[in-house]
Amino acid sequence: MARCPICQAETLQARMQVGDYEVHQCPVCQLRFSNPMQSPGAQWYAQSKLYSERRDRKMAAPRWAARQDWRYRSFFSLNLNPGGKLFEVGCGSGIFLGLATERGYQVSGIDHDPSAIETAHQLYGIANVQVSSVEEFLSTECPGYFDVICIFDVLEHLQDPLSIVKGLGGQLVDDGYLVCTVPSHQRWPQWFAPDVDIPPHHLTLWSELALKQCFINAGLEPLEVRPSPLMGETLLHQASLRWRALQRLDALGAALRGIGHFIVMPVAARFLSLAKKAGGFTLLGIARRQTNAG
Ligand SMILES: [Zn+2]
Repeated sequence: MARCPICQAETLQARMQVGDYEVHQCPVCQLRFSNPMQSPGAQWYAQSKLYSERRDRKMAAPRWAARQDWRYRSFFSLNLNPGGKLFEVGCGSGIFLGLATERGYQVSGIDHDPSAIETAHQLYGIANVQVSSVEEFLSTECPGYFDVICIFDVLEHLQDPLSIVKGLGGQLVDDGYLVCTVPSHQRWPQWFAPDVDIPPHHLTLWSELALKQCFINAGLEPLEVRPSPLMGETLLHQASLRWRALQRLDALGAALRGIGHFIVMPVAARFLSLAKKAGGFTLLGIARRQTNAG
């Protein structure tokens, strides 16, 4: 038996066993979660090949590619508190914060990866980012400060995502927004990198209901949960996790990624969409701290 970390419902049976972890699905909110909810720690991430491309990056990723990222396009189309103070949890090398600066936001952020923060400083010229875990950040910051907090593709790695969302909500001004992306429990395709969505890497996979419940239990007002369409960029990302040729940092790698980005994957995504296999790979959630909230 295990208990859903979002709505506290009990599950009687594990869906599967992965090493020392059970994977459960909540019968109420459909959250898929690990038992135990135990992060593998910094050492595991430092060794994981899933993050080697990020660690080894020596040149800046092109801005045009970042601008096409569905998460970022969706965020900027919302035009939330323009010009305000925007904070990103898990900012990596600062690609999104660079785009947000262009849009007039005053940006800052944290990431647990020192090499990513160094890249943010040196390659992207983003000064106001530092190495920190989200737990450390929440223990030191002043509440009620940020107009927008973004946390893209991080909650699924956390041992207690609800308390982190609650803590981040407390960092928002009244009518401030929390925007997150999480993997869908129905995500598809998975064949390229089946080890991505299982513990200890992803401790949770989310339904629309689970994400809304998480916002509500954290004292936030859920505004929208938006599933991503199937996109060429998703297929390319999945393919690059599996095929080393797409991870090469030289001219050949760049050429292969370019062909994949502009030709192969858009055609594949279109074909798969027509075959009605697509959609809901990632969920984008938007919540607001209500005026006079606790
Ligand atoms: Zn639940």
